[in-house]
Amino acid sequence: MTAPNNHLTLGPGAEFDAVRATIARWGAIARGTGDDGAVLDVPAGLKIVVSTDTSVENVHFRRAWLTPEEIAYRAGAAAISDLAAMGATPLAMTVALTLPDNWREQSMALADGIAIIARDTSTPIVGGDLTTGSELSIGVTVLGTVLHPLVRSGAKTGDTLWVTGRLGGPLLALKSFERGQDPTPIHRQRFARPVPRLREAQWLAGRGATAAIDISDGVVSDAGHLAAASHTQISIDLDRLPLIDGASPEVAARSGEEYELLVTGPSTIDALEFEREFGIPLTVIGTVGKVGASGPGVVTRVAGASVPAPKGHDHFSVP
Ligand SMILES: [Mg+2]
Repeated sequence: MTAPNNHLTLGPGAEFDAVRATIARWGAIARGTGDDGAVLDVPAGLKIVVSTDTSVENVHFRRAWLTPEEIAYRAGAAAISDLAAMGATPLAMTVALTLPDNWREQSMALADGIAIIARDTSTPIVGGDLTTGSELSIGVTVLGTVLHPLVRSGAKTGDTLWVTGRLGGPLLALKSFERGQDPTPIHRQRFARPVPRLREAQWLAGRGATAAIDISDGVVSDAGHLAAASHTQISIDLDRLPLIDGASPEVAARSGEEYELLVTGPSTIDALEFEREFGIPLTVIGTVGKVGASGPGVVTRVAGASVPAPKGHDHFSVP
């Protein structure tokens, strides 16, 4: 017996009652749940990209800072952003929720946050797991499809280094939260509701991008991952970093959980066309060069002169 949206009918019990309530809350974005595994149709000739991401209370967020919807939205957005970084189109997601007793009343709000990012990115929720535990944990696994994935090893000597959007908002929001203050609405929005750059990545892939990574650790740290994977030396001009209002270049360099894209590719990409299409800037911030004697890595510069790299993003320490 199959319920609407191809959900199987679940058996009796409190756990299944909670699952049923969640699936009902999700509505049409939840599909085909209730079997032992999800069955997906894969378009012929495309590759599957899989990524998983876990958000844990007091490691990745604090309860006082965000609404339950925002906490769950961010967990989903972080996972979907990895699909964007690969140039992939979302196919499906599964959600593993560890729900402590003191979060039980917020379970529907958490479900809503997952549904928002799922709907925003047209990613059906095809399965999940619900358990109790001592801390809230939201594990999101995403699957996507792509013809030619953007891999980190693709960066080539002579490429230009591009970044989407404006940097610094999440770190400024974090600093405000840690001081016990409310961030400005713009900084808060960048922290609480990051937007995976899915269409932007595909647009860039179609214009010759050679590699991409989403900025989760800070632009300098993430450039280091690109340099290591592609065995290159990446130079970043800190004075060219696109800044959110209120951010210094140092803040922009260190700010993590941005989920903007750092992309290598030709210098000829039309940044104005990009901005017209997506409403955010696309900025040249450096170059990809031949690996030096000290091995792959990142050189940071101001006015063309080397300066020490600003320290990367750290998750805040648990009290
Ligand atoms: Mg990533």
